[in-house]
Amino acid sequence: MNNNKNKKQEVKNLCPKCKSNNTIKWTKRKTENRGLIQRYKCKDCNKTFTIDDGFFRMRNHPKKITCAIDLFYRGISTRKVQEHFNAFYPHNADHTSILRWIRKYSVMISNYTNKLKLSVGAEIQIDEVEYHRRKSHKAKLGNDKNFFIDSICPKTKFMVASNYVKSRGKEEIRAVIKDIKTRTEVQVKIITTDGLPAYPNAIKKVYGFSNKTHQTNVFHHRVNASQGEGFNYAIERLHNNLRQRTKTFRGFHGSVESANAILKGFEVYYNFITKHQTINKCPYELATDLKLNSENKWLELIRLSSI
Ligand SMILES: [Zn+2]
Repeated sequence: MNNNKNKKQEVKNLCPKCKSNNTIKWTKRKTENRGLIQRYKCKDCNKTFTIDDGFFRMRNHPKKITCAIDLFYRGISTRKVQEHFNAFYPHNADHTSILRWIRKYSVMISNYTNKLKLSVGAEIQIDEVEYHRRKSHKAKLGNDKNFFIDSICPKTKFMVASNYVKSRGKEEIRAVIKDIKTRTEVQVKIITTDGLPAYPNAIKKVYGFSNKTHQTNVFHHRVNASQGEGFNYAIERLHNNLRQRTKTFRGFHGSVESANAILKGFEVYYNFITKHQTINKCPYELATDLKLNSENKWLELIRLSSI
């Protein structure tokens, strides 16, 4: 249980200049918004330093920042979060800073969680959700029709790979399938998708084709909605959840990267923060070896990501 903690402590007290671990606690520095920050001193080269816990040079308290992120993914708009803070905190952040925190930490955490080793079932379901993105929230530049391509393991409910893209062309589909393969290696035997023409070729390209069996190395299960066939519940439930969470966004505005960052945060929320009813656990508890020990899992994930 304490493995994460010990490792963190060990790595974190390294001297940034000479990488020595012969360091001691030095003075504490008072900061306006983050309280007392411990300084360390390297006994080998005499450098003094503080440790970046993921909130270095941030003007707000980590608790406030992670509170904003948590409220946002529970369905509260950035403006409402801002109004809430206005009532309870002396120094206030405007709603664009809140959006900035959401994007920054979502990307930071997912860069870390994307490297976790996964243990998933034999099937992966992939689907696409259509989104309308306002190209700018100021000028009337019109809407762009985009897609969020996502995938889930029905056994662990873990979202394996996703990407917010301009269109659901073969390149975009193939990129997501490639991520799935990289993350799950040889564990996947069945890929379930809708009838979008880009899938068969993309799956063949990524997983390869066996000349012996004259088949793709994974079984491609295509769901035919017009014949009344449906996905089983995992991805349907994920999409209901996603739509519920994203309806307060009133569509995305700004860049594709911005929308993608926000949805990376949703993926973190779905996999690590909320319990999934049918498994009564968070998906990461089934699909990874990660142990999160604190109640504020956003904060713990940010700290782990910043090592
Ligand atoms: Zn040193």
